[in-house]
Amino acid sequence: MRVETKNQDSWNLLVEHSNVPIIVCSIDSTAIIEVNKFSQKLIGHSNDFLKKSLLTDFLIDSDIDNWTSQIKLFKLGVTDNWETQLLTKHNEIVAVELKIIDLQEETNSCLIIPKSLVSEANKVDALKKKLSFYETILMQMPTEFAVLDAKWHYLFINHNSIKDAEFREWMVGKTDFDFCSYRNKDFSIAENRHKQYEELARTKTGKEWVDEHLTKDGQTKYVLRQLYPYFVEGKLDMNFGFGIDITERINAEKEREKILKEMTIQNEELKQFAYITSHDLKEPLRTISGFISIIQRKYAKHFDEKGLEYLQFVIDSANRMGDLLTGLKSFVTVDFDTIEDQLVETDAQKILDDSLANLKLKFLETNTSVVTPNKLPLVQGHPQYLSQLFQNLLLNAVKFCKNDPIIKITWENKEDHIQFAFSDNGIGIDAKFQERIFNLFNRLDKNNYEGTGMGLAICKKVVLLHKGTMWVESDGVNGSTFFFTLKAS
Ligand code: ADP
Repeated sequence: MRVETKNQDSWNLLVEHSNVPIIVCSIDSTAIIEVNKFSQKLIGHSNDFLKKSLLTDFLIDSDIDNWTSQIKLFKLGVTDNWETQLLTKHNEIVAVELKIIDLQEETNSCLIIPKSLVSEANKVDALKKKLSFYETILMQMPTEFAVLDAKWHYLFINHNSIKDAEFREWMVGKTDFDFCSYRNKDFSIAENRHKQYEELARTKTGKEWVDEHLTKDGQTKYVLRQLYPYFVEGKLDMNFGFGIDITERINAEKEREKILKEMTIQNEELKQFAYITSHDLKEPLRTISGFISIIQRKYAKHFDEKGLEYLQFVIDSANRMGDLLTGLKSFVTVDFDTIEDQLVETDAQKILDDSLANLKLKFLETNTSVVTPNKLPLVQGHPQYLSQLFQNLLLNAVKFCKNDPIIKITWENKEDHIQFAFSDNGIGIDAKFQERIFNLFNRLDKNNYEGTGMGLAICKKVVLLHKGTMWVESDGVNGSTFFFTLKAS
């Protein structure tokens, strides 16, 4: 075939508008010189890109040798078609048939006409394969999945939605009403679903709801349904929906709610009990104490030595009971329900200053010194309860100390909180008691130190209510350090 190249314009027009792919390239280097739209479409690259490339760039390695031998034959004047493969921009390998044509005028270039070997039938096969792949995935999905047409007929139902293959096939083309009559189910199921469908058609957006129905063994099953519309050129074409069995989740939530309710009731009863114990028992105790002091005042002269000793026991016990009830009341009043909403930006330095002012006399009497190397920071806290926490720790540091008490208060910024440390030079706490002392009524050296065993229980409760943690470190001899964490403000 002889191609007229003298008239460049008509040649370009011919190449450009040809409805077959055409590539002109250098015979030796394979540099692409001209390429028409058809070839660009076949290889997927732009005209500019192709013109900067070699034809061999798009041949897969194993075919390059073949190309070299074909060129040798071509130079000897033998031209034949041969099959090869082109690598496209999208990394797809396309089978093509290449034909080299001699451009007699352009001595060093040749014309290549690639012909795609992928027939329409092959394309349909590939598409079918793809579809069957996706269908298998949808069929085996661990949730229910279905596709419905715009008039709510089922087009596809997966295995999880209907296990019986025959029934599943029967349902294709049918509606929810057909389903109900076939399975002898209440029509309200179909009616309710259609209400959702109508709303989806009206709002044109996806919908989510929970279906609740009884299983054969009388259990309630909950299915979370999600339905989405699919539009083609603005018109509702199909709908697809998922059904996820959430029975276990709903039952677990119900169980949790039930337990929570029971716990709230029990907690309320406990609070009532603690309140009665701490508050109402004070009344008879006051009567007992009143009469004891009358006995002491008016009748003590009639008592012998033993009688007076017993009377003193009764007085001490009544006082101790009074202290215990006061402590219990303080513990109960630190209330879990109310504190959380009352946390405000609180200046820990001010809390410390106020606490030191309150304890001034005690510190003077005991020759106590308090060291704070840095100004304390701002925290999220409940000022009244934080005062209680600071004062309990300061008083303990003074109480459980045999020398002049020295208390050091430090703090440091941790990842998402502030860690405070109250160190003292007191008697220390043996490792085996370091957890137990935070429990109610726990005291270590009852004979030598007065107390109720409530202070640290209150401290820990206050810190927990601030969502912090509290612990103590001590070698059991050289003082103790109480740590607690609070959120920064
Ligand atoms: P209380 O002070 O009324 O005994 P707490 O709950 O405040 O009750 O303390 C519980 C126990 O922990 C104390 O009885 C004491 O044995 C020990 N403890 C608390 N603080 C210190 C401290 N700073 N140094 C040594 N022991 C302490």
